[in-house]
Amino acid sequence: MTLPRAVIVGASHAGAQLAASLRQEKWDGEILLIGNESALPYQRPPLSKAYLAGKSTLEDLAIRSAEFYAKQDIQLLDVTVDAIDRSAGQLGLSNGQTLAFDKLALCLGARPRRLPASGADLAGVFYLRTAADVELIRDAATAARRAVIVGGGYIGLETAASLRALGLDVTVLEATDRVLERVTAPGVSAFFDRIHREEGVTIRTGALVQALTGDSQVREVVLATGESIPADLVIVGIGVEPNVELAAAAGLAVDNGVLIDAHARTSDPDIVAAGDCASHDIARYGRRVRLESVPSAGEQAKVAAATMCGKSKEIAALPWFWSDQYDLKLQIAGLNTGYDEVILSGDPSSGRDFTCFYLRDGELIAADCVNRPRDFMFSKQVITQRRPVQREQLVGQSVD
Ligand SMILES: Cc1cc2nc3c(=O)[nH]c(=O)nc-3n(C[C@H](O)[C@H](O)[C@H](O)COP(=O)(O)OP(=O)(O)OC[C@H]3O[C@@H](n4cnc5c(N)ncnc54)[C@H](O)[C@@H]3O)c2cc1C
Repeated sequence: MTLPRAVIVGASHAGAQLAASLRQEKWDGEILLIGNESALPYQRPPLSKAYLAGKSTLEDLAIRSAEFYAKQDIQLLDVTVDAIDRSAGQLGLSNGQTLAFDKLALCLGARPRRLPASGADLAGVFYLRTAADVELIRDAATAARRAVIVGGGYIGLETAASLRALGLDVTVLEATDRVLERVTAPGVSAFFDRIHREEGVTIRTGALVQALTGDSQVREVVLATGESIPADLVIVGIGVEPNVELAAAAGLAVDNGVLIDAHARTSDPDIVAAGDCASHDIARYGRRVRLESVPSAGEQAKVAAATMCGKSKEIAALPWFWSDQYDLKLQIAGLNTGYDEVILSGDPSSGRDFTCFYLRDGELIAADCVNRPRDFMFSKQVITQRRPVQREQLVGQSVD
């Protein structure tokens, strides 16, 4: 008797968790985990932090050891999946072979958005998504003095902190009027702006990049105002796009991500998806969101594994996220979209710890907590349980 085969496409946070969870859910058939980065699945968050700063190795970053996959009888395959034939139940691979599946999971992740400016393909211009990207950046950084980072989001700011640690002059160019504009309240942006300036980073807001110039190597970043900023190294961090083409070509419903339901099922109930490539309705916020975070990838993967095993679990955990910059640990509970009030606990204009609570109609919906793990735990609970809170309680939260 041949055993049923579960195939997972994409071997990173979502895929690795899904494979492990399949065994926990008692899947006793074959498990194939297909990735195309020629490495054991590794943790991506340290790439812009410890790994870029040269404080960890790729082995340190492995999500699970090679022994784990062997022991759990999870086969790792290094190949790109080019096509899904749903009616035949088989995948087309980049090596020309086909692979049959009984159950399929898509954990395709996301890729960096490309900079829409001329000269973006010059040598010395990098994106930061993979360990291979970081190895190239680290090499380039050894000969570079001036780094320009395009994009003042989390990845841009984390990269700025790591490149400062390597001793480079760092300029961050942000097109909007403040860093972290898309994701935080103005007070939180002002805090990170101040910290980075104190650490020696030059931050330019309202700075729209028009072109990168140089012979073959990038030498200058030209802004829409015509001003030129010298650069030996440029790192672009202007967001990501979900890898949905494979799913879309197979006829699965896609809209800023592969659409999944609360059980991680795509529009084909026999195919699940999880992680950065997937978007789902979050009941707590009453809207569809594509989250880009390790905790969400893990949560969705666990639910997807249960679904593949014929069990019924739902994606329920509150979204959360973190970012490390210098000695600062930012932890974010919930989603702040639609907030109509913020309450600050602590003083972001001077110290290095505070919390920004986001409320809508008087209800706590999210919190950005800097070096305040207790506020984070408190917020997670209150937001999840929709517990009422008094404003005075939030202001004094960390005083306990
Ligand atoms: C520099 C950096 C820092 C980050 N920091 C944080 C942080 O501090 N906290 C946090 O919560 N999140 C952070 N994130 C986000 C987090 O890493 C992602 O949310 C997470 O990696 C999503 O995992 P995933 O498995 O869904 O997708 P990905 O990690 O994108 O992995 C998808 C994998 O699938 C492979 N793949 C795609 N298509 C195919 C195909 N057709 N065939 C075979 N393989 C394929 C890709 O090559 C990739 O290896 C960070 C991300 C980056 C890049």
